[in-house]
Formats: sequence, C-alpha cells, structure tokens
Amino acid sequence: MSKSISRRTFLKSGLLAAGTVAAGDAVAEAAASPARDQHLATLIDITRCIGCGACVEACRETNAPKFPNPQKPFPKMIPERVKVSDWSDKQDVDDRLTPYNWLFIQTATVMVDGEETELTIPRRCMHCTNPPCVKLCPWGASRQYQNGISRIDTDMCLGGSKCKAVCPWDIPQRQTGDGLYLKLLPSLAGNGIMNKCDRCYDRVARDELPACIEACPEDVQTIGPRAEIVALAHERAKEINGYVYGEHENGGTNTLYVSPVPFETLNAAIEKGPGKPHLGPAEDRMADANHLGAALLIAPLAGAATALGRYLKAARRAGQSPTSYAASNQRSSKTSDR
Ligand code: SF4
Ligand code: SF4
Ligand code: SF4
Repeated sequence: MSKSISRRTFLKSGLLAAGTVAAGDAVAEAAASPARDQHLATLIDITRCIGCGACVEACRETNAPKFPNPQKPFPKMIPERVKVSDWSDKQDVDDRLTPYNWLFIQTATVMVDGEETELTIPRRCMHCTNPPCVKLCPWGASRQYQNGISRIDTDMCLGGSKCKAVCPWDIPQRQTGDGLYLKLLPSLAGNGIMNKCDRCYDRVARDELPACIEACPEDVQTIGPRAEIVALAHERAKEINGYVYGEHENGGTNTLYVSPVPFETLNAAIEKGPGKPHLGPAEDRMADANHLGAALLIAPLAGAATALGRYLKAARRAGQSPTSYAASNQRSSKTSDR
C-alpha cells in the first residue's frame, strides 16, 4: 500500500470545495465539469469484505433523515403509464437498492486459487466522474460537486426516473408520494422522488468520513484523491494478481473495486435485476452524441426548473406557501424601490 495513503485515509486537501457547492447552480456545476483531479474516490477491496453488513446498517441510520416521507393515498399518476413505486412499508429490505436502502451486499461464489470462495461486494452509486444522471436530469435536480460526489436534490426532484434510465447500473430508486410535485400539482401527478447514495456529502463537507467507511471493521474502503486511489487499486491488484473495476467503466467512476477474480466472473456469479446492479462492461454514456444532444436540449428547461425549485425552497424556509411568499416578496421589492 502507498505510504501516502492508508485505509480509511481521509485527505482533507481533497475536500477543498466540498462545503462550498451546496448552493451552486446544478446546471452550471454540470457544465463546469469539475476537474477529475479534484475528485475524491473510494477503493473497495473485495478481498477484505466479510459481509457483516455494518456498513449497510450505518448508512441507513445516518441517512434516515434524508429518506422519503410519502403522503398517502397517492394521487393519480401522470402520465398514467407510470407505475406507483412504494417502498414505505418495506423499509427493512436490505438485500437490494431501494429509496430507503442505498447500499447492499452482493454475494458471488467463485473459485479463488482453486478453492470455492464466497465473496461479498458492497454495492451503491459508483459516483461517475462524468455522471449522466446529473447531465441528463431534465429538471436540474441532480448535481455533481467539485469533489466528484453526485447527489439528487429531493427538494427539486419530480421522480421522472430519467437519472435511472441513463445510469449504466440503474442505481437511483423511486418512491411515489413525496417531493416537489406535491406543491405543483398535488392532486394530479404522482411520480415522487429518486434516491441514492450521496456519499454522505454532508459528512464529507464537515471533514468526516462517509458512515459506511467509518463503520467497517475490516477497513474495506479507502478514500482519497482519485489519482491516488487509481494507483492504489493497481498496486493492490498487482499484490493479489487481481483486477480493477471503475477506472474506465462509463468513462471512469469515483468508486473503484479490486477483485481476486475477473469482473466477468463476478458478474456471472452475482444475482442481478431491479435494485441489484451488474458488474459488467459499461460504455461511456456521455460519449454518445445523442445523449450530449439531449443534454444541450434540456439545459434551458433545467435552468427554469432549477429556478422554480430554489424559489419553492426559499418559500419553505420562510415558512410560507409559494403564493404568500410571492406576495410578500413583491411587497418588499416595492418597498425597497422607494
Ligand atoms: S462493514 Fe466492511 S466488512 Fe462489513 S459488509 Fe461492509 S464493507 Fe464488508
Ligand atoms: S452510477 Fe448511476 S446514479 Fe451513480 S453517478 Fe453514475 S450515473 Fe449517476
Ligand atoms: S457513502 Fe454514505 S450514503 Fe453512500 S453508501 Fe456509504 S454511508 Fe451510504
């Protein structure tokens, strides 16, 4: 292991902008494409994971205040083809990703050095370096911070699932009956909000470790500047004659894995399906000209939606309804005109 970085290492120098971007404009952040050398990445060493689930538990406890709080009964879904996605009565499910479970442990029984071995693999958002979920959200509700963390702002999300549709691993999960649509069209649209690992952006902004890393008794994850994490991944892979995932997948991610067996072997051995992402090849979706074209087309819409979302958030902070907030704003701007 590199001397400059140890397991659980948390390099504060890598957090330069972590606390400064929360109020930034999502579209501008996306357009600015934060430099990769400012990104924080994590290395997940599969050989060290014992599948104890402490990380899953810590994630749920720490992030529970961010979980959905849906209003029932759900209104009519618009468009009608959109299905209700309700996990509110199944919040204990922890064997897949859900809006209430942002990390789960996948298992793969494979041959390692001639012995049948069960490997356990923590799975969550990969935090892509150029995340399509951020670039292609029509409402500007998904954002990427300068430190590479991507996060869905559930105060602005309408639950349309575009982020999930463009994610190579189908990571974001939808809960019906919560979110901005309740303020816009409360009796009509019933989409909801999307949720996923935000890599504990608020803890990171306070120079704290993400909860899953702090809770792990085996120091499975290492966090640090991406270039060092990539170097560390290769160093570890060389030590165990192993393999690296995440360096190039979807153009590169800020979550890297190192495994003692090829990822094709792991991918064949894991259970895949809804909420259970693959470990196979992932083309760079943002390199696709059609997607880039779509990104350009949605930019003005995202800007308008971002402005609306901020307005509604400001109204809520002021403890007023959007209409009375508008009236009081108008009064104060008239007063200041005098
Ligand atoms: S806490 Fe650590 S060892 Fe336990 S399941 Fe999570 S990553 Fe694996
Ligand atoms: S893995 Fe999916 S949800 Fe996570 S940053 Fe990449 S595109 Fe977005
Ligand atoms: S980084 Fe935070 S939000 Fe993401 S899986 Fe770990 S504990 Fe959960």
